Amino acid sequence: MTMRIAFIGGTGFYAAPFLDDPKEILVGTRYGEVRLLEGHKPDQEIYFLSRHGAGHSVPPHLVNYRANIAALKELGVQAIFATTAVGSLAEEMEPGHLVILDQFLDFTKSRPGTFFQGEGFPVVHTDMSDPYCSFLRREVAVTAERLGLAFHRSGCYVCTEGPRFESAGEIRMYGKLGGQVVGMTGVPEVVLAREAGICYAGVSLVTNYAAGISPHPLSHEEVVEMMRKNGEQFLTLLMATLQTLPPQWDCSCEKRPEANLILTLPSSEAKG
Ligand SMILES: [Zn+2]
Repeated sequence: MTMRIAFIGGTGFYAAPFLDDPKEILVGTRYGEVRLLEGHKPDQEIYFLSRHGAGHSVPPHLVNYRANIAALKELGVQAIFATTAVGSLAEEMEPGHLVILDQFLDFTKSRPGTFFQGEGFPVVHTDMSDPYCSFLRREVAVTAERLGLAFHRSGCYVCTEGPRFESAGEIRMYGKLGGQVVGMTGVPEVVLAREAGICYAGVSLVTNYAAGISPHPLSHEEVVEMMRKNGEQFLTLLMATLQTLPPQWDCSCEKRPEANLILTLPSSEAKG
């Protein structure tokens, strides 16, 4: 059985050097077209999607999250590994460390956050008690441990609207609410994946301490530079996880009544 797995690359992760001879494909969805790379490994179809587009051209609040997840669903993807660059609110989550997310706090404001927004869909309230796939999280953690990487097996991700960075006051508030890392793209991506019944793991790389904790002002350049130095950890970890992933697993992500609803709508088609 062929497994279909997707990587969504965040800031600093724009290419898929792990794919031999990748082919660019365009998938049409009712939310817009999505350009991604397709490659093959034994018994695996691998897709790579750059969240911010070529050259980081799309800001976090304008990423077409629904098109991205709808396209992956259309392709039959069973598991998504998504990377994000984050600021840290927790002293022990140091720059350079990886964090395997297990919870989020949603502070986004303007982006469409659901597939179930009327438009012919029934009213659906998807359970979000454990937003990230428990099985994939464990697989990534086991692999990170085996590779000896500096990582945290859980972390609460605060998603802000961006594109500006946070104020020091906001960071103090997020910290009091239980947030441990902060970024601008993790939500609604994980929510949409759950609505679509796709297993989703979010892995963050801490690029800096957040506002008011870091001794100097934040800059995108700092984030990119940190990703350049440490980003290969993502590749190493995710490729090694892929190698040991079993052909099937038991989790509840796909066993939801709404899991295949988004496939029932017209106007989705794959193009070569
Ligand atoms: Zn799952």
